[in-house]
Amino acid sequence: MPMNDPIDYERLSDDHRRLAKSVYETLKQFLDALDDEKKIAAQYEDALDALDDEERRFAERIFALDPKTLGFNGEFCGRERPEELVAVPSVTLPLGEGTYETDTQFVPKPAYEGFKKMAAAMKEEIGSTIYVDSAYRGPGRQAYLFFYELVEHCDYSLRENARWIAMPGYSQHGDPVRTAIDVVNERGISGEGPGQKPEDFEREPEYRWLLENARRFNFELSYPRDNKDGVAFEPWHWRWAG
Ligand SMILES: [Zn+2]
Repeated sequence: MPMNDPIDYERLSDDHRRLAKSVYETLKQFLDALDDEKKIAAQYEDALDALDDEERRFAERIFALDPKTLGFNGEFCGRERPEELVAVPSVTLPLGEGTYETDTQFVPKPAYEGFKKMAAAMKEEIGSTIYVDSAYRGPGRQAYLFFYELVEHCDYSLRENARWIAMPGYSQHGDPVRTAIDVVNERGISGEGPGQKPEDFEREPEYRWLLENARRFNFELSYPRDNKDGVAFEPWHWRWAG
């Protein structure tokens, strides 16, 4: 039974490759059938339900691995469905000579209520504010992305794949309660936009205000310079502390 063979993390066996490819294709079909907005928030259970028995058992075996054994050190954040997701309408912001759309984003309700209060207070205190650039990303979509990268870009090496992409449940953007929000200011600066560096947002008044005030609204900077997780400095990434 290839299903129960030990998994080679460096290079999947031929049988396991066949299963990985099959999981990837089924999850792709599952996501393709969703509209653009639902794609971003796709749930873990819904994605697994789309698989046949053999695919599902294989996917569950992979996702049950401790990513530390694959060289990924992030903490587990959860895969459950958020209680209530709020759709945040797209905002048009300047970008170089042109403009940039944040697209519709989703945030669990309590985190979004906190964010709105924080953004309003910032506007009042310094005359400018921030928007949601990216927030909740469903672990169902993360499951698809994991297999997509594994098959298309990592030549079926789980260890190589873990360097590039978090397993479903291990991204702060998929946390159903303590969700991370990537922010962008009115001038289209976040530090992660095209051609931007983290320092570009670090210099902005909105970032300095966040450093002093975000805590009042239960938001924390997850990845300051030289953080213990060894993640690169991400001045745009703020996590709702619940
Ligand atoms: Zn982020």
